[in-house]
Amino acid sequence: MKTLNGVKGFHDVVPPQSERFTDLEQRLRAVLAAYNFGEIRTPIAERTELFARSLGETTDIVEKEMYSFDDRDGTSLTLRPEGTASVVRAALEAGLAQRDQVAKLYYLGPMFRRERPQKGRTRQFHQFGAELIGRDDPLADAEVVMLLADCLDAAGLKERDLIINSLGDEACRPAYRAALTAYGRAHFDELCANCRQRLDRNPLRLLDCKEESCRRVMADAPLVTDHLCEPCRAHFAQVERLLQAADVTYRVNPRLVRGLDYYVRTAFEVVAGNLGAQNAVGGGGRYDGLVAALGGPPLAGIGFAIGLERLLMATDDLSAASNPEVDVIPLTDEAAPAAVRLTRRLRARGMRCELEAAGRSVKSAMRRADKLAARFVVLIGDDELRAGRATVRDMHHKADHRLALAVDDPGSALVETLRALAAAGGQGA
Ligand code: AMP
Repeated sequence: MKTLNGVKGFHDVVPPQSERFTDLEQRLRAVLAAYNFGEIRTPIAERTELFARSLGETTDIVEKEMYSFDDRDGTSLTLRPEGTASVVRAALEAGLAQRDQVAKLYYLGPMFRRERPQKGRTRQFHQFGAELIGRDDPLADAEVVMLLADCLDAAGLKERDLIINSLGDEACRPAYRAALTAYGRAHFDELCANCRQRLDRNPLRLLDCKEESCRRVMADAPLVTDHLCEPCRAHFAQVERLLQAADVTYRVNPRLVRGLDYYVRTAFEVVAGNLGAQNAVGGGGRYDGLVAALGGPPLAGIGFAIGLERLLMATDDLSAASNPEVDVIPLTDEAAPAAVRLTRRLRARGMRCELEAAGRSVKSAMRRADKLAARFVVLIGDDELRAGRATVRDMHHKADHRLALAVDDPGSALVETLRALAAAGGQGA
């Protein structure tokens, strides 16, 4: 029968890659705990309206990348393409986002966008993100950017470029938008078809068009940093001062824009040099109008999202090797009960154990142990049963030990001895 394959752009995560995922998630969670953020888990499906209202009707995601479908009662649902809108909705529903209150939330999970799959771009991918809702002061911006930098440090991403910018706010951005539109009009013939279309609806996106001709044109386009109103300028200057005080390495790029409409003031992105075309590892920014746009009080907010797959692609393998510490081999059926008992005790003490089928020859059992790259092999055969001692082979030091298979406490004594041997360098006994 023909085998059934998974869906294009949707990938399985299998060992050992799944272990790298888990290891990365643990590192990130530890950083978020240090910043006193709490985890929020929202559903994968939301009403389509949530994303249309928050991301902006003219964004790539809403225009062409959402997985939307009608539920049986006719409600249009969408598989979440990003996390912020859901987090804000959920925080409002749970009463976490209220006046005079600050919500510090992080999330981790799959996101869905129907983009053209390529290296570093899939249709289901995982994001780790944090949101700080209810603060509009520069210290909040600095804290979130610092948090992002610390997450990347914890993940081992050293070769990175953290770029920040200010996008202005409702006071100064309209004038900048108009200046950009006028500039685009003056160079209309040199723009790609896509940019000609979005010139009126979303002129900021012209700044991150990848087409060569657009890039040439936009190199001389008006800069948002020259159009900031005084409060936005002061806010940005203070964010910079705080980041410098915290020793965060960053670069200002006045051409940085973000794909979603809801960003105001501080926006930032991290790119990794070794990723190729899809080199953005994460990004975020301030979204002061979003909470109100979703029906809540006028609360400010700022957050970021990191793509876990890209972060793993960009970093060296930091995770501990996933080889078993102990490979337990019962050489006969009679030895199997002692082997089961011992293995269960070792596992209860946190040792990663492989338990082999009984009745193999020592030679074939050892071949397998070599393949597994186990640190220790425990052999239990008839001789060992009679003597009440297992043969323990230290695979690193090629030394054999005979260790008591005590009836009462076979596990912990052996664990202590194995750990001591692993730490010491163990000579044969
Ligand atoms: P965004 O919400 O577009 O700013 O995305 C934040 C991060 O999510 C990006 O920097 C990527 O690391 C990751 N990401 C976004 N879209 C995809 C995708 N289609 N496949 C893999 N990772 C993605």
